Amino acid sequence: ATPTALMVGTGKGAENGVLIRDGEAVQTMKDITAVVLDKTGTITKGEAEVTDIIAAGEFDENKVLELAGSAEKSSEHPLAEAIVKKAEAKNIEFMETKDFNAVVGRGIEAVLKDKVILVGNQKFMESKEIDIQELKDKIISLEEEAKTAMIVAYAGQAIGIIAVADTIKKDSVKAIKAFKAMGLKTIMITGDNSRTARAIADQVGIESVISEILPEDKSNEVKKLQSQGEVVAMVGDGINDAPALKQANVGIAIGTGTDIAIESSDLTLVSGELSSVVSGLKLSRYTFATIK
Ligand code: ADP
Ligand code: MG
Repeated sequence: ATPTALMVGTGKGAENGVLIRDGEAVQTMKDITAVVLDKTGTITKGEAEVTDIIAAGEFDENKVLELAGSAEKSSEHPLAEAIVKKAEAKNIEFMETKDFNAVVGRGIEAVLKDKVILVGNQKFMESKEIDIQELKDKIISLEEEAKTAMIVAYAGQAIGIIAVADTIKKDSVKAIKAFKAMGLKTIMITGDNSRTARAIADQVGIESVISEILPEDKSNEVKKLQSQGEVVAMVGDGINDAPALKQANVGIAIGTGTDIAIESSDLTLVSGELSSVVSGLKLSRYTFATIK
C-alpha cells in the first residue's frame, strides 16, 4: 500500500477506537480467516464473582469460604480475588497460612494450621489424590451454568465447592455475529474447563472452543491453526496472552488489559470492546480493496 493509504487507515482506526502499533498489521487484517478470542477479560468482563458456596464435608459454607479465602489471599489470580472479596464482604477474618504455592492452570496450595489446604480444579484434585466423586454431579451442573467451579480440600478431604461467574461484555454477541457475517471462523481459547468454556461460547455464538490450555500453550494453538492454513487474528488481554498475540498474524490487545499484552500486540482496542475489531477488519478490507 502507499503510505497515504496507511495513514488514512491509521487515522480512521483511531476514530474507531483502534490504536495501531504496526502499520503492516492493518494490511494483513484484510486476509484474516480466523479470529481467536481469549475468554476471560476479552469476551467476558473478567470480573469474576462468587455465585455459589457448597459445603460438602465437616465444615459449613462460611468455614469453607474462610479456609479457601485464607489460602487464596496469597494469589493474584482473578478467581482468587473473587473468593477473597466474597470473604471480606462477609467480614471473615483470614487465618495465617504458609508455604503458598500456585500451580499454573490448576490451583493453589498452602499450609494452614499444619494441614494442607487446596483450592483448584478437578485435574488439580486428581493430581493430589483427593476423592471428589460425590461432588462431580454438582460440579457438572455449575459448569453447565457457565460457572467456574473450584473445589476446596483440607487435610486430604474435599470440603466444598466455590463457584464463580463472569459477565459477558455487552457487545460480544454482536461482534461475534459480525465476524461470522464476514465469513470468519470464531474460536475461543481458555485455561478454563471445557464445559464452562462451551457454555460461554454458546451464549455468545462461538463455534469452536479450545479449552484447558496452559498459558504457555496458547501460542502453540495459534501456530496449529496457522499450519492448517488459517490467517489468525488473536484478541487477548492477559499476561499469558502475550506470546499468542505475537504468534498471530495480527495480535490485538484490549486497552484495559495488561501492559505486556499491549506491548506484544500490533493493534490495541482502546475501548476494550470487540466491536472495534469488527471496525478494524472492515476498515482494512475497505482500504486495501480500493488500492492497487
Ligand atoms: P484462565 O485465565 O482462562 O482462567 P488459567 O490458566 O489462569 O486460565 O486457569 C485455569 C484454571 O485453573 C482455572 O479455571 C481454575 O480452575 C484453576 N485455577 C487457576 N488459578 C487458580 C486459583 N488461584 N485458585 C483456584 N483455581 C485456580
Ligand atoms: Mg484474559
